[in-house]
Amino acid sequence: MTTEPSVFERIIAREIPADIVFENDRVIAIKDIAPQAPVHLLVIPKTAEYANAGELAAADPQLLAEIVGIANRLAGEHANGQFRLVFNTGADAGQTVFHVHAHVLAGGTLEEGSLGRL
Ligand code: AMP
Repeated sequence: MTTEPSVFERIIAREIPADIVFENDRVIAIKDIAPQAPVHLLVIPKTAEYANAGELAAADPQLLAEIVGIANRLAGEHANGQFRLVFNTGADAGQTVFHVHAHVLAGGTLEEGSLGRL
């Protein structure tokens, strides 16, 4: 069975444009096209093998740790280093792209609501 490449695979392949803020051989980070916070970045492994964070954690914990480290670094570069890290898992949780990615939400506070609320 073949599946259509996800939007993130198409960004990685440079088939569609994105505002890329970080890239190495295993990971790419972009600005979210519909930001939910003053700073809203997506940190995405280049492999399309894993649909969500649980699958990634089970198969390649080192890559998951790399994603967290890059998120931390980008939050320092784009905001004051304080951030929310969100992995939506499943449609009921709001996941729309089934290629694991971390949302980095920063540049505001929970109190003012700019980082969203649980
Ligand atoms: P999720 O709902 O957790 O699967 O997150 C998918 C995210 O990808 C959403 O926050 C979208 O706004 C974002 N998104 C979708 N298409 C693009 C795109 N072409 N460039 C940047 N972000 C995108």
